[in-house]
Amino acid sequence: MRADSPGHSAKYGSYRMMDLPTNTVVDIQLVQSNEVGGSYHMEKEGLSRSLALLESRGVNFDCIVTDRHPQMQKFLRERTITHYYNVWHMAKGISKKLDAISKLEDCEKLKKWMKSINNHTYWTAAGSTSGPERIAKWTAILNHVQDIHTHEDPLYPKCKHAIRKTTDKSKWLQAETTAYYKLDKLLTNKRTLKYVAKLSPHHQTSSLEAYHAVILRFAPKNVVFTFIGMLCRLYLAAMHYNENANRLQAETKEGEPLFRIYFPKARKGECIAKPQKTQPTFGYVADMMDLLFEKVFVNPTPYTDAMLAISVPEPLSALYEKLDKQNVIASYVSRFKRGGV
Ligand SMILES: [Zn+2]
Repeated sequence: MRADSPGHSAKYGSYRMMDLPTNTVVDIQLVQSNEVGGSYHMEKEGLSRSLALLESRGVNFDCIVTDRHPQMQKFLRERTITHYYNVWHMAKGISKKLDAISKLEDCEKLKKWMKSINNHTYWTAAGSTSGPERIAKWTAILNHVQDIHTHEDPLYPKCKHAIRKTTDKSKWLQAETTAYYKLDKLLTNKRTLKYVAKLSPHHQTSSLEAYHAVILRFAPKNVVFTFIGMLCRLYLAAMHYNENANRLQAETKEGEPLFRIYFPKARKGECIAKPQKTQPTFGYVADMMDLLFEKVFVNPTPYTDAMLAISVPEPLSALYEKLDKQNVIASYVSRFKRGGV
């Protein structure tokens, strides 16, 4: 299972649980910040509600992958569920910091290493079975960038790649340089190592970004929705995702695979090719129409009951409105009294 919270705003936290092997959204929770005492607590609340629901339906968890959030860690440890961190978040964080460092004086050489270090993050996560093994592989990169390919840690004594003469000798880093010192500090500080030790070996086929894009189409960020409105949109996004996430690569009539060329902002002008997917389908819409005409219109009671059973939190403004109204009345009354004196 993987749990994360796309579409976070100050008002709502939406939380989804996903079954990784099938790339399917299996539950969605919508939490309003005033239900749980502020946005900081929304993620834990979402996870906790999802776990309760899935466990009540007889789901056993092998492990759960989340982004790094201290509250989650404590919560899952107490429940004795194996907990991993999502690689994508970590890789993105390291890349961003590395990019900033490579712009500093005497650190330009790090630019050439950014891609390798990003790949190394995924490779470390995917191919290891224990925390210490992940750390051994992770820290080996600090030798590797110096053209040293044997390592002290017995859990990863030697680089796996073939040793070959590089044409670009200038890429290797020297130990006593600013670039190396900064890289070492970034990759082996306590916080990073703790993160690495728990990186998830379970990679998912489609990216988190793909799901975020679907949510944004159903619930644009610049529009404020009511609680039920938002919940409905999240369910629609999940249905659309579940039907379309595993689309195959499109082909020409002759059976040649099709690709699309992208210019991602992060790559700064460099283009990448991605397989072009077949057109999305909307079978879930037809299914819902059938449900509406064949079941809901015939006997709406169970559906109305289910809707009414959803506990809708009071809108955020409700509390302030009440206070404001009382204040306004109080000041009106006191002014009125003063006027009478
Ligand atoms: Zn090496």
